[in-house]
Amino acid sequence: MISERSHIAQNIDRLNERISAACQKAGRDVGEVRLVAVSKTVGLSEIREALAYGVRDFGENRSPSLVEKQDELKADFNDIRWHFIGHIQSNKVKEIVGRAALIHSVASEHIALAISQRAELMGVRQPVLLEVNTSGEPQKDGVSASGLAGLLDLAMSLKGLQVRGLMTMAAIAEESGVRASFRALKRLFEESRDSLDVHEKTTFDLLSMGMTDDFEIAIAEGATILRIGRAVWE
Ligand SMILES: *Cc1c(COP(=O)(O)O)cnc(C)c1O
Repeated sequence: MISERSHIAQNIDRLNERISAACQKAGRDVGEVRLVAVSKTVGLSEIREALAYGVRDFGENRSPSLVEKQDELKADFNDIRWHFIGHIQSNKVKEIVGRAALIHSVASEHIALAISQRAELMGVRQPVLLEVNTSGEPQKDGVSASGLAGLLDLAMSLKGLQVRGLMTMAAIAEESGVRASFRALKRLFEESRDSLDVHEKTTFDLLSMGMTDDFEIAIAEGATILRIGRAVWE
């Protein structure tokens, strides 16, 4: 019998080729860029296919799905890294902390405080990114560019957090507008990093930006984590 690779395996191959090509074009090492497969629209069978094909980073935007999928898969795979990428409500913080290898979407002081408190209670330090609204679109989450320094200061002072970098979603716009969002995040990342002390700098190293429609632009602008859904599953 001729075994046929699933379309998910083919998608992942194609995606890795496009990521490599974009890195090469940008003069970047492909090892600097990690793919998170955003699994919010798919079930366990699709996730298992991606696992069989070597993917270990998955992104969810709702805490019940994070809990359910993680619990279902942990007996078979002990090395999955779950990323929480959605809006965070304070009453869901206890479900997310400790489960998410990285929370991408810390957008306010009260959520930063709630995550830190919960992490301290559990005796862990929770890796997080601060989400920035680089487009100014009111329907998007994220701290404003002008509010970032204040949020960063607070987050850095919290014992339960390890602040690893920044995240954004690009403007809904033509390529130039998308690029402007990513460039703005990269600039804010560098400014933020410059404001940190030597010790804090070493683990402030992640820039989460780029989705199915714009990840090649994100790579050119310095992304280190791509959050890709449709191009993996469809
Ligand atoms: C859904 C989602 C993605 C993935 O989007 P695609 O267009 O399917 O690649 C990335 N980031 C966030 C925050 C999302 O909610």
